[in-house]
Amino acid sequence: MENLLADINRLRQERRAVILAHTYQSPEVQDIADFVGDSYGLSVKAAQIADADVIVFCGVQFMAETAAILNPGRQVLMPDPEAGCPMADMITADQLRQFKAEHPGAPTVCYVNSTAEVKAESDVCCTSSNAVKIVQSLGDVPEILFVPDQYLGRFVERQLGRRLVLWEGFCPTHYTLGPETIRKMKRLHPDAKVMVHPETRPETQDAADFILSTGQMVDLAKTTPYRQFLVGTEEGILHTLRKAAPHIEFIPASDFLRCPNMKKTTLAKIKTCLETRQTRITVPAEIAAKAKIAIDKMLQISAAK
Ligand code: SF4
Repeated sequence: MENLLADINRLRQERRAVILAHTYQSPEVQDIADFVGDSYGLSVKAAQIADADVIVFCGVQFMAETAAILNPGRQVLMPDPEAGCPMADMITADQLRQFKAEHPGAPTVCYVNSTAEVKAESDVCCTSSNAVKIVQSLGDVPEILFVPDQYLGRFVERQLGRRLVLWEGFCPTHYTLGPETIRKMKRLHPDAKVMVHPETRPETQDAADFILSTGQMVDLAKTTPYRQFLVGTEEGILHTLRKAAPHIEFIPASDFLRCPNMKKTTLAKIKTCLETRQTRITVPAEIAAKAKIAIDKMLQISAAK
């Protein structure tokens, strides 16, 4: 293990590489990363680093694609290119084109957990933290298409009191958390507050005290007066939360909140990736340019007061 860490540290200097890790990565991967955060925040962070030639993205494919779109002059590498996202793969660009044809004139909002091709077909992207604001910014249009996560879409519907036309995608990991599990865990931990991600089902969200993106969970942990939380999102975030707020007890809301794709990245694969500069993630220029328009529009709306 010590040799492995030493090799990674040597190689990242030789390659002028920055290592980014999503909060759902395993603790040892988070600990060697230069930055840990949510997918979009990490890509923006990478774009602000002046002296890196290489980005090693420890996450899943759509995240590395976004990093490549936002960092065109840099090599973006994935330690395990097989780490995909089943939710992102629940809609293809062809399917979205068909969906749009069935709803002419309706703008399309696309969760960043989607492929670059799907982003390129969309009007504006959103993250789980800004989805409400993005949809609201579109005004009182008759129809808005929302892809691919139906549960984030339903969360937005409930916040705004309006209907969206939802694609029926979902995250298989968050889907496993049901309200009965939360009620059982609350009986075991009666003083605990419950935080869940908006990718969970509406009935699960109803059983929680807070519905938050991963970034918002970390922000809450740093400021809350509460001392015990049940955490209803992928288990990797427990490490992030415990480091951010060591005085708080964070308990997984279920034993099944483990995304197998997020756990494909290992230290050994990071070392090999730095040695071989494989696997490079690229996005065709035309798709990247169109996807960037949807991403930039999200940024612009998000930054507006
Ligand atoms: S946790 Fe869900 S949305 Fe995130 S990468 Fe895994 S399958 Fe995709």
